[in-house]
Order: sequence, then C-alpha cells, then structure tokens
Amino acid sequence: MNDIGHDPLRRAAPAAWYINSGLRLSDEEPDAESGPRRYALVPALERYVAGVRYHDEDAAGRAATLDALRARGMDWLPLPGRGETATRWRGLAAVAACDLSLVKLYEGHTDALAILAELQRAELADDGNWAVWAAEPPDRKLIAHAAGGDALTLEGAKPWCSGAPHVSHALVTAWRDGEPVLAAVELSQPSIAIDASGWQAVGMRATATSEVRFDGARAVQIGESGAYLSRAGFWHGGAGIAACWYGCAAALAAILRSSVKRHAEPHACAHLGAADAELSSVAALLRETAAWIDEHPRDDARQCALRVRVAVEQAAGQVMEHVSRALGAVPFCTDDWFAHAIADLPVFLRQSHAERDECALGLTLVDGDDAREPWNLGRV
Ligand SMILES: Cc1cc2nc3c(=O)[nH]c(=O)nc-3n(C[C@H](O)[C@H](O)[C@H](O)COP(=O)(O)OP(=O)(O)OC[C@H]3O[C@@H](n4cnc5c(N)ncnc54)[C@H](O)[C@@H]3O)c2cc1C
Repeated sequence: MNDIGHDPLRRAAPAAWYINSGLRLSDEEPDAESGPRRYALVPALERYVAGVRYHDEDAAGRAATLDALRARGMDWLPLPGRGETATRWRGLAAVAACDLSLVKLYEGHTDALAILAELQRAELADDGNWAVWAAEPPDRKLIAHAAGGDALTLEGAKPWCSGAPHVSHALVTAWRDGEPVLAAVELSQPSIAIDASGWQAVGMRATATSEVRFDGARAVQIGESGAYLSRAGFWHGGAGIAACWYGCAAALAAILRSSVKRHAEPHACAHLGAADAELSSVAALLRETAAWIDEHPRDDARQCALRVRVAVEQAAGQVMEHVSRALGAVPFCTDDWFAHAIADLPVFLRQSHAERDECALGLTLVDGDDAREPWNLGRV
C-alpha cells in the first residue's frame, strides 16, 4: 500500500543535482481526461511521486502507482534522442527517488513505449502496463516459432522478469530459426505461467521479479530479426538506467544535506561535500550524454552510455558510503524510506555488469577509429 502525504521536501535536492536544471517546463498538472498521449510534465510527475510512500514490500502497491501515473499521462516521457533526453532522465530520477522497485516497473514500461515507437509499432502501446524482459542466461533461451505473418508462438522460460505478476504485456527477446527476435506478448494467456517463488531478494523485493514460462503463447514479432540490439535506442535505454541509480543516490544525499542543515557536524559536512562532488560530476555527465544523444540520435551511443553507467555506478557507491558514515545507524534502523533505499540500491546497481562494462568501455577507447576525444575540455 502507499499513501499520499509524505513530506516531499525531505527529498529536495540542490539544483546542481537536477539532471536538466536549466530547462523550463510547464508546471501544470496533466489532465487524465485529455488522453494519454501527452508527454509527462516532469515537474508534475516529480510532485506526484514525492508524495507517494510505501510501508511494505508488496509489488501490487507499486503496480497501482504505475496505473495512477498512466491514468495521468505521466508515463509519456519524452522519447530519447528527440531533444529532451535530459527531461526523460529527470523523470526517471524522480521516480527512482521515490522508490527503486517502483522505478524498475516504471522504467521498464517507459522503455517498452520507446522501443515500440522506435520500431514503428507505437499503436500496440495503447493499453496496459508493459515490461521489457531481455535477460538471457547462456543456458536458457526462449524459442519463437513462426505462426504466419508477424505472428509467433513462444516456448521456454524467461528469468529476471520484473513485475511479471502485475504487468499486462511484455517485450521479450527470443530466438527464431537461430536469429534473435523481439516479441510483444499479452500475459493473461493460459499458456503463460509466472513463478515468483525464486525471488528471495531483500533489496528490490517489491519488483516481484519472476521466472515466466511460455508454453505455446501467442506473440507478435516487433521489427526485423536483430532489431532489438541493433537499434540506436538500445544504448539510450541503457543510459536511462543510470539516471535511475542517480535519482536514488541523490535522494539519499538529500537526507544527509537536511541533517547537516540542522546540525553542521564537521565530519558529516565533509561527507556532504564529497557526496556533492560525486553527484554534481555525474549530473553534468548525464546532461552532457543526453545532449550528445539529442545531437546524434541515430549514431552508436555505446561508448557514452557505458561511460555514464560506469560513472554513475561508481558515484552511487561512493554516495552510499558517505551518507552511511555521516549518518550512522539511526536512519538504517528508524527511517523507513532510507532503510529501503539503502537496501535496494546495491541490488539495482548489479544490473551493471561491473568490470565487464568497464572493460567494454575501455575497449571503445582503443578499438576502431573513434574520432571523438573524450578527455578534451574543448568538447561541447
Ligand atoms: C532487481 C533486478 C531486476 C531485474 N529485472 C530485469 C527485467 O525486468 N528485465 C530484464 O531483462 N532483466 C532484468 N534483470 C536482469 C539483469 O538485466 C541481468 O540480466 C542480471 O542481473 C544478470 O546479469 P549478470 O551480468 O549478473 O549475469 P549474466 O551476464 O546474465 O550472466 C552471468 C552469469 O550468471 C548466470 N545467471 C544469469 N542469470 C541467472 C539466473 N536467473 N539464474 C542462475 N544463473 C544466472 C549466467 O549463467 C552466467 O553464468 C534484473 C536484475 C535485477 C538485479
């Protein structure tokens, strides 16, 4: 369950920590009656989620919030690469600052809308809550069989399906005749079984991440074979995850800032300064990355997406350390929001592939003839 009435100011952060602090946006509430195809008005989204608070680890409450956001058109974030990528990420950061399990569902849904738009199937997104389930452990691949036209049937199991008991549709990766395909599937079919019993997580518990079994489920192929990975938006979506990590880290640091405002203990103040340096640096990188994506929407964003993910992962780890050492055990043990956020964030950060991602980033600097000069201060 969630309630409205949590003090939004508790999570108020300095302007330097806002991803697109320079942009002026409308401050009006979106009108639920005026149709869902309006871009979310991010300040209204920020206000709405700042008032949402959970008292349990139940995914149903998060799914109910996603329904409420959809009813207000607040799921229509600006699409990446269309000039307002930073606004999109500011929206993701705001939802992450509310609750990381909520943003796991919200980010998956908004990512699905962006993928469907990019692959010219936006009309499918009219109804329901969507998820994107693309994880593929090497030994488990979902098999797609052709069923006429773009129709498919799906066989096999998919692990890592966040929100599975609560979403209505998913985009899933599968293999058709040895080629990777993306399939849209409606989840109420009797040929689909959801098993959440393996999800023993404490952090991110309220995502109800499940294994989903498909036993001849009907689905529709989205785009050509290989389209999911080869489209430019793949890396735009990957960078958006970093905005989620960032939003939670900034909200944790905002609690430290409030504490130091009340009592300027020098060690806590030093930790606040160190956290500010981390957050302001990666906020600047997020803004710069968003601007690059907007200027080069069709180009390969792999390098800048990997860079921002690695940088935000490192910064989030540092911020958790500074906040923890400055505030001690009290908020871990007495502050409901803090206790959940500090348990959720390390688990969510493991969607990074750690050293494998750092290695992949390093390889982009030594392989190929990449003309970009990443360390040049003259770069716009
Ligand atoms: C909280 C949370 C929510 C997630 N939600 C989603 C989601 O909604 N959609 C989505 O596509 N992905 C989701 N993921 C999965 C994520 O994208 C990665 O695929 C996952 O974290 C595994 O990545 P990895 O780099 O550790 O392992 P991989 O690179 O995938 O594999 C590394 C090793 O782990 C093993 N492995 C991987 N998965 C499993 C498994 N389930 N059981 C046993 N062994 C396994 C592999 O066999 C391999 O040996 C979620 C992850 C987390 C932590």
